[in-house]
Amino acid sequence: MPFTLPALPYAPEALEPHIDAQTMQIHHGKHHNAYVTNLNAAIEKAPELASWSLDQLCREIATVPESVRTAVRNNGGGHWNHSLFWELMAPNAGGAPGGAVGAAIDAAFGDFAKFRDLFKAAAVGRFGSGWAWLVAAKDGSVSIESSPNQDNPLMEGRHAILGLDVWEHAYYLRYQNRRPDYIDAWWNVVHWGAVDARYAAR
Ligand code: MN
Repeated sequence: MPFTLPALPYAPEALEPHIDAQTMQIHHGKHHNAYVTNLNAAIEKAPELASWSLDQLCREIATVPESVRTAVRNNGGGHWNHSLFWELMAPNAGGAPGGAVGAAIDAAFGDFAKFRDLFKAAAVGRFGSGWAWLVAAKDGSVSIESSPNQDNPLMEGRHAILGLDVWEHAYYLRYQNRRPDYIDAWWNVVHWGAVDARYAAR
């Protein structure tokens, strides 16, 4: 099996009260694990992909054999997105971004409050299941986008530095239908150090 479920970088309850332990356990142990299992099953049907990295599967999704392309898109995307998502959160995190990424956010959006408003609008406005993203271009500029399902910016050749899962499974136990409340709380666990490291690696 080429892909395995990565361990959470913190305990499931570490992001309480913003993200509850049961949501984390189900999200990581059931949902993310299912993407890994289903991705491995798809690759078993297309052994020529066995040597591909997860990044390559996303970046070159258009050249994945058509017989497994949708399965790889959904489950490879799901594995990539969630592996990143866990790393972009941490206990005792949140606040305003400093460093180079903080400056890039201010340059693009005016200030952090304005950026949060626009990012939230993208996340709330994503109909159904999907993700909101902050992407960085090679020239250092940053922009907000959103994607449906488990698609991600890498599938379009872009570099995501921040991502927010807005599938109901990410928030329903604690927030029910109140996606905006989940987004407001999520800012308290954003690990800006990890975002800044991804920004530097653009
Ligand atoms: Mn999810």
